[in-house]
Amino acid sequence: MPIHEQSLIRPEDLRTHEKLVVDGVDVSGHWSTFIQTRVVTDYNERLQEEIAALPGGEYIHRCWQCGSCTNACTVNAVNPDFNPRFWIYLVRMGMESELLRDKDIIWQCVSCNKCTYACPRDVFPEGVMKALSHWLELKGHTPKSPAMIFDETFAAQVIARGRIEEGRLIKGFFARTGQSLRQDWLVEMLRRMLRHLPLGLLGRLGLSSVRAPRTRGWGAAREALTEYVQEQRAQQRRALGLSALIAAARHDASGTAGD
Ligand code: SF4
Ligand code: SF4
Repeated sequence: MPIHEQSLIRPEDLRTHEKLVVDGVDVSGHWSTFIQTRVVTDYNERLQEEIAALPGGEYIHRCWQCGSCTNACTVNAVNPDFNPRFWIYLVRMGMESELLRDKDIIWQCVSCNKCTYACPRDVFPEGVMKALSHWLELKGHTPKSPAMIFDETFAAQVIARGRIEEGRLIKGFFARTGQSLRQDWLVEMLRRMLRHLPLGLLGRLGLSSVRAPRTRGWGAAREALTEYVQEQRAQQRRALGLSALIAAARHDASGTAGD
């Protein structure tokens, strides 16, 4: 399938002769610009299957490369290098090393879902972007993003206790991302809460944050959720051919979480 966008030709792949005369015709400068030929030998023939095995990537095979997602994309409007259509193309072609050249911008998707509504094939490009980010992390190409760490902390607390306690959630997230609790915005928010919230509510919030209550009768739900997460992890591990996820699945199963 051809690539139509000139912006996709990377500057380092362009060659220009400053002085070149061919058959007596001066083609110096941009007249002699051409794209460096290359041979791709490192296809990952399972790349589409790997992305399809992750949540959000299931329908990537439906893409017919119309470009409506990129055309509608919020991030592409400010950064033309952010190109969902192109990345879906690379995945379907198995061009992993080419995809990795953009690993530092793929995660910039803001999940606005404009692409999802524009897509005529129900590919759910927003989901594909999530699956791509997840894949980059699982394969060790990028560190876990703060958003992923927040999701994990949130899910772990829900699974462990059947409810969310915001103070513990923020504390857990900050601890995992190495952030101080003494941040100006947080201090200001607490100040305003103390000033404006009724004393009874403040007392209940404080007590919850110390006691970390559980939802009554949550045990069965916790077991079911834990089992489901383990199954999903195992499926992803198989699809990606990874062993590192086994440890992660065991870690989740050991009921760590929550605080
Ligand atoms: S969800 Fe992501 S990929 Fe889709 S339009 Fe929004 S920023 Fe672009
Ligand atoms: S809008 Fe849908 S079909 Fe068109 S390129 Fe994007 S993902 Fe593929």
